Amino acid sequence: MSDKCLVIGEAREGTLRNVTYEAIAAAKKIQPEGEIVGVICSDSEQESQAKEMIYYGADRVVTIKHDNLKAYTSEGYGQAVLAVIQEEEPSAVVMGHTSVGKDLTPKLASKLTSGMVSDVVDIEIDGDKPVFIRPIYSGKAFEKKIITNGLTLVTIRPNNIATLERDESRSGEVSNKDIDITDIRTVIKDVIRKAAEGVDLSEANVIVAGGRGVKSEEGFKPLYELAEVLGGAVGASRGACDAEYCDYSLQIGQTGKVVTPDLYIAVGISGAIQHLAGMSNSKVIVAINKDPEANIFNIADYGIVGDLFEVLPLLIEEVKKI
Ligand code: FAD
Repeated sequence: MSDKCLVIGEAREGTLRNVTYEAIAAAKKIQPEGEIVGVICSDSEQESQAKEMIYYGADRVVTIKHDNLKAYTSEGYGQAVLAVIQEEEPSAVVMGHTSVGKDLTPKLASKLTSGMVSDVVDIEIDGDKPVFIRPIYSGKAFEKKIITNGLTLVTIRPNNIATLERDESRSGEVSNKDIDITDIRTVIKDVIRKAAEGVDLSEANVIVAGGRGVKSEEGFKPLYELAEVLGGAVGASRGACDAEYCDYSLQIGQTGKVVTPDLYIAVGISGAIQHLAGMSNSKVIVAINKDPEANIFNIADYGIVGDLFEVLPLLIEEVKKI
């Protein structure tokens, strides 16, 4: 078995997402002594992105440039990444547990009849085998998985595996691979942006999430203000989304996004099991709720019992002083 790991880079608006660098760190855990090869698919030159992957620990990077790789499609990226896997014959392929990763890796695993582990939050080594740790039962327990033989495809949950130190003195080869990407049945005509500008929710270190207790779209304003002063993003419960206080792209939970920020501030959220499924692994949880019996307090590290419309302005004022 080769001691090489491929890391599939994922970019948004020309910048690699942080989870790409986390995936490099994950690959290093899988193959501490092996070669880490970054892969970037795009319709344009990706020299600077490739260099970033090298600064964060990749040994070399293969770029694939093709008009059919302008936006992600499972057919286009599937053909491109498959060709690199077949040429490089790695022992593992790692990428983020993002919408793209969740779509692409099972497709590749099925084509290559390989093992796959998704939503990995940590990796240990047992003998010479990587052990993949992933949450189950909505984050209430963790399971450890080993792929006994062959290629392993892995998706890692953003914000769980720390990136390696960025080092601009690192160098490595950047090569372009020509692949004829044909037979594309899906064409992305336009991307209509619904999510709010600013910090990406799934990669945010701080999230201020609002629930039905926020009562209106207007009521979300102080949450945006607090998120801004903390350099974070705004999220929401499904209760708030269903009530049309905010867009569904902000929904966190079982049927929304799964997040693991350093700090999660739940504002006017009761703590239904389906909401906890998306945020209970956050490192520090602060809950603001006027009901002292609210379930959210059972998982909160810090609880503030009070009216959110009184607590939030005080909190914003205090944070601004720091
Ligand atoms: P509520 O339960 O109504 O809670 C509002 C809270 O605000 C209360 O605790 C109240 O005390 C507090 N409050 C009110 N006014 C104030 C105030 N002025 N100051 C402070 N606190 C105040 N939910 C999700 O969030 N994400 C999901 O992905 C999700 N998926 C689901 C999937 C399925 C199949 C099902 C059946 C449900 C799902 N739900 C999901 C819905 C979930 O069950 C809850 O209904 C939802 O999370 C409730 O949202 P909430 O906490 O905002 O509202």
